[in-house]
Amino acid sequence: MHLNIFVSQRCFIYCKGCYSHSREEKCGEMLETDKILNFLGYANKKGIKKITICGGDPLTRPDIIDLLKEIKKIGYYISLDTLGTSILKEIKVNSKITIPQTSAKDLARTVDMIGIPIDGSTNKVFSLFRPTKDEIVNQQIEICNELHKYGADICINTVLHKGNIDDIFEIAKIIKSLEYVKKWQIFEFESFGKFGKLNKHLFEISESKFLEIKEKIEKEYNDERIQFKNTKTRNKLYILIDNSGDAYVSSTCNLKRNNRRIIGNIKEEKDWPKIIRYLKMK
Ligand code: SF4
Repeated sequence: MHLNIFVSQRCFIYCKGCYSHSREEKCGEMLETDKILNFLGYANKKGIKKITICGGDPLTRPDIIDLLKEIKKIGYYISLDTLGTSILKEIKVNSKITIPQTSAKDLARTVDMIGIPIDGSTNKVFSLFRPTKDEIVNQQIEICNELHKYGADICINTVLHKGNIDDIFEIAKIIKSLEYVKKWQIFEFESFGKFGKLNKHLFEISESKFLEIKEKIEKEYNDERIQFKNTKTRNKLYILIDNSGDAYVSSTCNLKRNNRRIIGNIKEEKDWPKIIRYLKMK
């Protein structure tokens, strides 16, 4: 299984279809750096070599670049998923929190793969999922160009949902024009997390619709950079660690707390072997 770790909860975009449990945590909540590194040091010695850094948004963590450098030093291949906005400008999260600009150069040199979302070919479609008044499509392209300037490997992430399904071929044209992009991941919308469940009616598509689009795109583009991730296969692939340190897998069984099955907490050394056993499951 793949390890995903939330390193910050200071989300500033408030996606309507947010599928992350991190949004339910208190704004500002984050795991202490030493707790993250201790666990990751142990996990790496036990054979875990890859990690995805996420949050709401990971670049809102004040020591993010230092943390990434330390994770790299341990020996991880790092993927990082971010909206990327702070690469272009300072962000005001609320009246108390302002996020300074992040250095594209530092990020490109520390992270192995940077995931940037593009969920629509127009601001209108994009904003259905991630509401913003920004010129968001141009902004995302500018972020990619800026990262590419410093040699970053970039992956575009698209959540396929009811509102952008008719736009997917236009999004494909944008990705095609960004020749340097290494991967384009298309995720089936998943109604996880409080907001994902609340707004499920706006975004959910059937599995057969997802597979129909997959077939059409593969036929039209025959591009090995494109990867499709549907809900069923994806849930079995990840262990997530939230800002409280809880390690969990997604569970569709309603008896489990918030559709999560908690395996342990990385702040507790006694839980580490169990978490590693899960990570090594195929
Ligand atoms: S999906 Fe990510 S960026 Fe969007 S609100 Fe949720 S945590 Fe924030």
